[in-house]
Amino acid sequence: MGRKLDLSGLTDEEAEHVLQVVQRDFSLRKKEEERLSEMKQKLDEEGNKCSILSKQQKFNEHCCIRCCSPFTFLINSKRQCQDCKYNICKSCSTYQKKEKAWICSVCQQARLLRTQSLDWYYNNVKSRFKCFGSAKVLKNLYKKHRLESGACPETIGKNSCADFL
Ligand SMILES: [Zn+2]
Ligand SMILES: [Zn+2]
Repeated sequence: MGRKLDLSGLTDEEAEHVLQVVQRDFSLRKKEEERLSEMKQKLDEEGNKCSILSKQQKFNEHCCIRCCSPFTFLINSKRQCQDCKYNICKSCSTYQKKEKAWICSVCQQARLLRTQSLDWYYNNVKSRFKCFGSAKVLKNLYKKHRLESGACPETIGKNSCADFL
């Protein structure tokens, strides 16, 4: 990304505005981070519950692994989740037209989480990313230097992670 942010020509008022944007970005990112880790925790708990339940003999043969309601022929028929391979009931599943398969509500959440927060963000980039985005802008704002990368406030977010790779 060749976008450059020249901060040297900013008036105090403009600099103040940029600062506000950067600060807002900080708090937004923090909130997003918290939301995602909460989501992750819930999914982990659900995973634990499932592994316990699935050890019960034939539990999943007769009951939905997600809501534990018993399967009944026609009314609440059994189907298998494409991702976790557990048997799930009608109300805990959604049909994926593209894949022509059923996905349970939990796996759907997990998919969502994956797309929203790629694992590399958490495992690899997070610590480096901290001093890359807003922090860099902030530093440079005080120095009033030219920024090298496209780390202007508008592009901070998911795009700047991608730039980093
Ligand atoms: Zn269910
Ligand atoms: Zn599933």
